[in-house]
Amino acid sequence: MKIASIRTHLLEHRLETAFESASMRFDTRAHVLVEVICDDGTVGWGECLGPARANAAVVATYANWLIGQNPLEHEKIWATLYNALRDQGQRGLTITALSGIDIALWDIKGKHFGASISTLLGGRFRDSVRAYATGSFKRDGVDRIEDNAAEMAGHRDAGFHACKIKIGFDPAEDLHVIRTVREAIGPDMRLMIDANHGYTATEAIRVGNEAAEYEIDWFEEPVVPEQLAAYREVRARQPIAVAGGETWHTRWGMREPIETRAVDIIQPDLCGCGGISEAKRIADLASLHGVRVVPHVWGTAVQIAAALQFMAAMVPDPVRGKPLEPILEFDRTHNPFRQAVTTTPLEHQNGIVHIPDAPGLGIEIDRDALKEYRMKDA
Ligand SMILES: [Mg+2]
Repeated sequence: MKIASIRTHLLEHRLETAFESASMRFDTRAHVLVEVICDDGTVGWGECLGPARANAAVVATYANWLIGQNPLEHEKIWATLYNALRDQGQRGLTITALSGIDIALWDIKGKHFGASISTLLGGRFRDSVRAYATGSFKRDGVDRIEDNAAEMAGHRDAGFHACKIKIGFDPAEDLHVIRTVREAIGPDMRLMIDANHGYTATEAIRVGNEAAEYEIDWFEEPVVPEQLAAYREVRARQPIAVAGGETWHTRWGMREPIETRAVDIIQPDLCGCGGISEAKRIADLASLHGVRVVPHVWGTAVQIAAALQFMAAMVPDPVRGKPLEPILEFDRTHNPFRQAVTTTPLEHQNGIVHIPDAPGLGIEIDRDALKEYRMKDA
């Protein structure tokens, strides 16, 4: 069995209403899928986090070292590709592109052996996970405070047990948003806040101290990801658990935040951190230091499927009668191709998402959708 070719599928949808986090503006949804094709006809799918065209260019570069390889030797391929671009790589697009390839290789391996990726990872501890709703971006032309409160109350009514809101814009307004959302969703729904690294350490400490009375489960990306000392200061000087990691890549990138306990919760993105192979190593590293793992998810059903397979195999830690279960980040912003790319959508039922047990990622790709949402000039 050999890898015969590799393709990327660039997908795009122009939004009617643009939205913003503290660090990024979205007027389109754009994602890239990776398709690895083997000489026996087996096909594996992956996805890369971040700029679609740039990721596709790096994937095309990796093809030089990929074609003709045995796709079942995913660790050998990971090391070969990492080493190939190491001198200008180590993090960023070289790793997000590698992530998409690694996920596709796991999909191939599962299909070849007739087993789900979670089974190949060592076993399924669970067949479903609770999802938390991510949304509340700042949308053009609407009152942010009312909009966020109404949206989160809607997620509660749809059965979600937890939701995450966007802050990091302005400390005073953000605190107003947090208070209003808590009032709208009531006392029972879990609530998380995500600053998308929009604050200084001083601002984050103030927001954390004032937001704590609203029962916040975690405070995500309070400061820019390069400032690990600031992360540690935020963690030490306000009471909410600190989360981060969606922009940190590989075991090397995750080592310092985990070892120095800059975060309580590490959030590797499977399509960014180096794929399923690297996420496993990161989770093992986190387990050495008592850091909880909650994968970051921001993509199509391919990414959701990869996260589900990974989460199925996550070892309960700490072990107890009713262990703290992993929870799935479930993006609720508008993206018409998020689930359309698969013939078996990974939707929630009352806030719970079933984990497929079919071979590989456990999903089938809908090629008509890839055509329908194909990026212009791609
Ligand atoms: Mg985030």
